[in-house]
Amino acid sequence: PPPMPRPEQTRVMVVANQKGGVGKTTTTVNLAASLALHGNRVLVIDLDPQGNASTALGIDHHADVPSIYDVLVDNRKLSDVVQPVVDVEGLFCAPATIDLAGAEIELVSLVARESRLDRAIKAYQQPLDYILIDCPPSLGLLTVNALVAGAEVLIPIQCEYYALEGLGQLLRNVELVRGHLNPELHVSTILLTMYDGRTRLASQVAEEVRTHFGKEVLRTSIPRSVRISEAPSYGQTVLTYDPGSSGALSYLEAAREIALRGVGVHYDGSRAHTVG
Ligand code: ADP
Ligand code: MG
Repeated sequence: PPPMPRPEQTRVMVVANQKGGVGKTTTTVNLAASLALHGNRVLVIDLDPQGNASTALGIDHHADVPSIYDVLVDNRKLSDVVQPVVDVEGLFCAPATIDLAGAEIELVSLVARESRLDRAIKAYQQPLDYILIDCPPSLGLLTVNALVAGAEVLIPIQCEYYALEGLGQLLRNVELVRGHLNPELHVSTILLTMYDGRTRLASQVAEEVRTHFGKEVLRTSIPRSVRISEAPSYGQTVLTYDPGSSGALSYLEAAREIALRGVGVHYDGSRAHTVG
């Protein structure tokens, strides 16, 4: 397969979909690990009070750990809260702790409440190739902070009934933020997750999504895989938990597509897959 080029500037990607359980967190951590394993420096920002991305990366995030909450609400520097991910060189995480659940309300009364994450990222001095932001399953101020901070939106879509339901709302929010706060923002990437090629439903949904969105949809889709769902309980991504599994290979392939698109190459990942 072709190499995974590094971007010239940091790419900030917001992984969002206000539906829960569609694969946002799984996609964030596994894409981040795939990119890091190929020589990129990658920061995952966990913006979900559940802290699932922090858990999946094996990052300590009990209540006393300095976290993204402190950055958003108490003006703490991002560099004070970032932790390296053990086992994956070049991968870092700004964890979420449970107090982030209160941030949605606490932010309301703060100045520049929509752009606090953006400001923290711009003040971060370490060189990075990618920042991936894992959003909570809502369109509140936390997600708005992510949309103001990022240029690209990555929407994971689960190949299930009602896959497209609710997406209109997310897309309208993207338009609003683009119009008022962040002119660079655009939906760059759609990723089909939990794809089961044996079912007609999955292929119908995939086709519907491709018709609806077109070139933003990655050629690579992520299969339903037990290995992917097991990895977080070991504090690992599937890339280190079971590197040869179909889940690991598909996330690597999706990461490669994203990297190549960043330099203007639209590469047919699905074909590379069958070639092996
Ligand atoms: P979200 O962050 O959108 O709420 P998650 O990434 O937490 O979604 O995924 C929801 C559940 O589905 C988790 O239990 C996760 O392990 C599981 N899951 C995600 N992707 C896959 C996949 N490709 N195959 C099997 N299970 C998956
Ligand atoms: Mg999640």
